[in-house]
Amino acid sequence: MAPIVNEFSAERLSAKKRRRERGITDAHTPKKVKKVVECKNKSANKEQQRSLKKRMRRNDAILKRREREASEEPRWPARARFFKSWTDDAAFDEVRMILTKRGWTDLGDVCSPHNTKELIDIAQCKNNHSLPRRCLWWVHEDDGRRLKHLPKESMGNARHCISTFLGTNAAVTKVAITEQLKNEAFYPLSFVLPKELDELQEAMKSKDNEWWICKPRDDFAGQGIKVYKGTQKEFNDLISIKKQSDFVVQKYIPNALCIGQYKFHFRMYTVLTGVLDKYEAFLYNDGHALFSTVKYKLDESNVGNGFDTLMHLTNWSQNFVKNNEYLWEDKDVIGPGCEWAVSRALHAIEKENPKFSYEKFWKDMIKLCANTMHSISQWKRVKTLRAQNDEHPRFENFGLDVLMDTDCNIYLMEANTEVGLNSSMAMFPDELCENPLCEKNGCTKCYRRGKNVRAKENNKVIEEVVNSTINLMQLDVPYSKRVASNFIPLIVDQDEKELDAVAGKVSKMSRRHRK
Ligand SMILES: [Zn+2]
Repeated sequence: MAPIVNEFSAERLSAKKRRRERGITDAHTPKKVKKVVECKNKSANKEQQRSLKKRMRRNDAILKRREREASEEPRWPARARFFKSWTDDAAFDEVRMILTKRGWTDLGDVCSPHNTKELIDIAQCKNNHSLPRRCLWWVHEDDGRRLKHLPKESMGNARHCISTFLGTNAAVTKVAITEQLKNEAFYPLSFVLPKELDELQEAMKSKDNEWWICKPRDDFAGQGIKVYKGTQKEFNDLISIKKQSDFVVQKYIPNALCIGQYKFHFRMYTVLTGVLDKYEAFLYNDGHALFSTVKYKLDESNVGNGFDTLMHLTNWSQNFVKNNEYLWEDKDVIGPGCEWAVSRALHAIEKENPKFSYEKFWKDMIKLCANTMHSISQWKRVKTLRAQNDEHPRFENFGLDVLMDTDCNIYLMEANTEVGLNSSMAMFPDELCENPLCEKNGCTKCYRRGKNVRAKENNKVIEEVVNSTINLMQLDVPYSKRVASNFIPLIVDQDEKELDAVAGKVSKMSRRHRK
């Protein structure tokens, strides 16, 4: 009997060949048999088609799986994970240490520290410079601008990754942040002077707005900031100067929540991984609580001309300094130093304040951070530089400073780029110490001022932020590890139920941190 026709079976082909060799062709098959064969052929054809379709589907699935597997793999091979950063800036020490620990090769300084324009040549391989095969550039925006000369590349298999977006520095100035967020409930009533003087003077008539804080345009680390009572002569003199560069006057939150009578703010760490229509951002589920080092008691005598910086300003750079004798003092509740982990602060707040709820705190905080990060990512300067921002995979670390009042409401104080991801040393700095490195972050050598007991806890925060940030770029981890469990996606206008669920989950983790 003729074999069942199966065009896809090698067996059938060889059988046909054999019959042909023996001189038998289809024409030789008797009619009756031929009919039966044709009939069988019809049903067999259907079966073939089915199996063909099945096989095509299977092939499709295999191809898709391969594609997915490829996109799930770390983007850069282990042998080509190089990075450049600044070796003489403590702000990058922790980053360099962590990347090295993860198996990356440190290629040293971004360029000559004495000639930063060299970076422009390096990016273009001019004047005998060459580029590494692949490179993670961990730099700030000023260097990021020079890196616009890097070869153009497609995002899919980019060989250069940069730790800064362009235009974000302009988005976080006091004036820009005020313009962006002045209608948000979490942003204190603010005015940009001199142009909004009339509006400010109108607002000053209200009993609720007795105290004001002045923020010069481009200050950082609390320099030049001062608090005033609205009735003080020095305040009224200052705001009436018509010809001066823009600065922000903001309502001062008089009832700041204190721990052990010390004022503090939350330093929250966020990461931006996409801007404009590619907006994507995350919030770390802990952070730092940064304290002032003089007990808080708002009074006309310690504002204005008699401004007490160490009472009102909670900035780390104001309080964690050599000549601040209160820094190493064993203070009520907060102890020596001026920095805790957020989780430690929340635990202390919960104990003392019946109004406090972890769930509300995290819900408010996620909303505040999502709105702020989204707004920064859409700022006009970021838009102007869209083409450059699209050219390479980028990310950027931010520090959002958030104050809580005695009703447990939270307010954004400022947003910072170029956030110091540096760790603290074991000892407090001492003005008598001769170690040249005895400064910003403390000291490893001098013992007179005592041990920074919270250094380990605070450094863990930085270490986790840096590690989770690197994960986000999927350069050395697979897709499944891209978003670490300590990073919360910051979704703008998130559905309330979804937000409640996220806040609940973070609260659980946050409570566990302190147990
Ligand atoms: Zn020292």
